[in-house]
Amino acid sequence: MSQNTWDKEPRPARLEERLDDGVVRCHLSPRNCRIRPGQHGFCMVRANRDGRLVTLNYGRSVHATEETIETEAVFHYAPGARILSMGNVGCMLNCDYCHNWKTSQARHVEDKDVYHYTPEEVVDIAVRHGVKVISWTYNDPVVWHEFVVETAALAKAAGIVNLYKSAFFISGEAIEELIPVIDIFSVSIKSLDPKYYRKITKGWLEPVLEGTEQVFRAGKHVEVSTLMVTDLSDDEATARDMARFVGERLSPDVPTHFVRFHPDYKMTNTIRTPVDRLERARKVAMDMGLNHVYLGNVYDTESTNTWCHRCGQLQITRYGLNADLVGLDAAGACVGCGARSPIVLLPDARPRARVPELPAAEGLDLARFDWHGDVRALHVQVRNTSAAPVRAYHRRYGDPAADQGWQVIDLAPQESFRYIAAKSTAGEVGVQVAVPPQCTSSLHQVFDRAHFPTVEASAGTLNEDVSPLPLFQPRARS
Ligand code: SF4
Repeated sequence: MSQNTWDKEPRPARLEERLDDGVVRCHLSPRNCRIRPGQHGFCMVRANRDGRLVTLNYGRSVHATEETIETEAVFHYAPGARILSMGNVGCMLNCDYCHNWKTSQARHVEDKDVYHYTPEEVVDIAVRHGVKVISWTYNDPVVWHEFVVETAALAKAAGIVNLYKSAFFISGEAIEELIPVIDIFSVSIKSLDPKYYRKITKGWLEPVLEGTEQVFRAGKHVEVSTLMVTDLSDDEATARDMARFVGERLSPDVPTHFVRFHPDYKMTNTIRTPVDRLERARKVAMDMGLNHVYLGNVYDTESTNTWCHRCGQLQITRYGLNADLVGLDAAGACVGCGARSPIVLLPDARPRARVPELPAAEGLDLARFDWHGDVRALHVQVRNTSAAPVRAYHRRYGDPAADQGWQVIDLAPQESFRYIAAKSTAGEVGVQVAVPPQCTSSLHQVFDRAHFPTVEASAGTLNEDVSPLPLFQPRARS
């Protein structure tokens, strides 16, 4: 019996079907679990309590985190925009390589990693920090359906854009409830091979493809990505299958991302995807007619940039999770030929304020983190322990081109705030964080995008800095 308390406040769930003898069926994901009284569904966060379907993770989240939209494999909407990433606990899949297994697999979730939010609090964080996009992400938003639908509606009313980053193993009925409130769908299609889906993800393929078509036909902004797992799905056949699906069932203009794998969960003995295989996959897909194919989790490549499809003008340069608009005017037209770009701009998505020097009189405590191995991004968590507002600061260093002074982070009384810092140029050495005496801070190494680290940087890493702690320890069968 779990000692954790995060799942002890059940709330009524949507998409319930009541059957005989107190049994319920859940229609949220294609699994359609049939659940007896007192039992859970596959995801472990929906259950039958006294003959009614309930959700156990309403408002239960990992720490809200400010990131950039590139973290979510979204390249054609508000490049470089700050987003507020919200992840929950549980999942309707169980992928062998899951890099968020510590929060996606409910049996491994610990109270220390779970925060409680109301819909109003989530919107308030975004508004106070000037963030214009909320991203429903990490483990998977599907199993957080009630909280996502309610909060996204509130956010939309406040003028905030909603982004849904998901493996999208979800029912058509649930998608219909998302369509009115979600603006952007970033769908992770693991493979186009039905056998791969069954074996590696424990789900099945066709609902994912149908759901992606459903939101595309509804006129939503859609981008798709595939994790190219070394020797499993990093071959030309996968690239061809993806190109065929996107070109024939969506549109050749839908941005498609081939994403580099890192060892994790049950696959710590598999090496990182060789970059030449990813570049090859991109070429195959572009030769088949896709107009925008990008690599993910790859640095020092031009295959993350955007060029004008008509005149070849370089429009956006990207490094890691950072983007710079270099060839688009304010209206989104190409500066080379004037053609309207497919990139959606969000004029309100402003960067944080900056100051050239730290204020001398504040007695700031300085922490520093140097990039190393495959660790090129960091979550910084700062907590204001006082009853008054305070200011923390953040800066890149080591490359004059990247160092643009100190970013200002305003914290409300008692506020805990988490944000990502990601390496932005090849020459950048690391980042510095300055907090006043009333603040505590902790650093968490991020391995690739949409990874939510649950251990502090001081705990170290595995496999010479290519995979994160903790190490998954399978339970011995008794
Ligand atoms: S969300 Fe999916 S896995 Fe969870 S109970 Fe419902 S049908 Fe089962």
